[in-house]
Amino acid sequence: MQNMVYLDNNATTAVAPEVLEAMLPFFETQWGNPSSLHTFGSGTKRHIDEAREKVAALLGTADPSEIIFTSCGSESNNMALLGAASAIGGTPHVLTSQVEHSAVLGPCNKLEKDGCRVDRVPVDGVGYLDLNVLSEALTESNGPLLASFMWANNETGMIFPIAELAEKIHEAGGVLHTDAVQATGKLSINVQDVPVDMLSISGHKLHAPKGVGALYVRRGTRLDPLMLGGHQERARRAGTENVPYIVGLGKACELALERLEADTCREAQQRDRLESGILATCKGAVVNGVPACRLPNTTNISFEHLEGEGTLLMLDDIGVCVSTGAACESGSIEASHVLKAMNVPRSQMQGAIRFSVGRYTTEADIDYVLEQLPSIIERQRVLSPHLSD
Ligand code: PLP
Repeated sequence: MQNMVYLDNNATTAVAPEVLEAMLPFFETQWGNPSSLHTFGSGTKRHIDEAREKVAALLGTADPSEIIFTSCGSESNNMALLGAASAIGGTPHVLTSQVEHSAVLGPCNKLEKDGCRVDRVPVDGVGYLDLNVLSEALTESNGPLLASFMWANNETGMIFPIAELAEKIHEAGGVLHTDAVQATGKLSINVQDVPVDMLSISGHKLHAPKGVGALYVRRGTRLDPLMLGGHQERARRAGTENVPYIVGLGKACELALERLEADTCREAQQRDRLESGILATCKGAVVNGVPACRLPNTTNISFEHLEGEGTLLMLDDIGVCVSTGAACESGSIEASHVLKAMNVPRSQMQGAIRFSVGRYTTEADIDYVLEQLPSIIERQRVLSPHLSD
């Protein structure tokens, strides 16, 4: 068996060696508290500021003062939705989509319980947002409006038209948050061209460690803090700063910007070769989503009449890591809410596998999967003939 083949980069990514190297001094020698008055502690502030500049640079024209460091993408999403709703006051009208990550759907459910009207806009069979339903919801909106639409979907890679959404939401006087956890580092982002009000980032999706994230908050956007206490992050998020991880996120964003074109070009070629190879050699394989509008690294393929879990386990046995849907939902036998929203037929829904390539994927990795997968699919069909009924 060859070494592990990791095709699950939408679940998490390896910490880049450059990122680890940048972080180490802040564990070993420069471990002071940035809030301390002595220079040993306060000297670390400069490194936080530098990291903030690097995160802002990945978002085009963002100003470093518009970046709040958080513990993860989930926290950024919670802070954006709950913090903005609290600052708006009352019960704003909340607009989102049916295919958001649970870290957006969860806060939306909470706001609904608190009395807000929440409209979850559907998608069509390939994952495009239904802009007619969105327009209807906007017409009916008569109070303050808070919208959250993901930039790109974690399961299918489908990209939402965020610039168009920003225009519509702003015309209606609303505030737009985007969960860009899967888009940052995979797509070019500029908050001048796509004028969202808030944008979530997660470190571990772009080669920083797990446990660090950021929220971009456009100057002038009202946001109440969720975490109360000290005055860190200009009183927008209390808690002693996680200096090594913040430095790591800064380095990861710097690398992502430098390598964006080269990485995404290579990843798109690898993904396309993998996808066309699978479609050509595996019976009953169907892509969920459309090529023209997807993240460059992602393909979600249903193997008709099979169970994705079985395929995943057989791939795992030969050292290949993939996912059947969102990683945090595995373990549950519920079909993916994203594929359900797309009305993927039952015969295809259970058999979906997400392949997501990344910076360290090699051509040999793709060759290996293309060589092994057809026989795995065939074996699965023999082992579970009842599923083909
Ligand atoms: N949003 C999307 C689209 C994601 O894919 C994920 C993680 O899978 C998250 C949010 C949550 O990010 P984190 O794991 O950093 O909390």
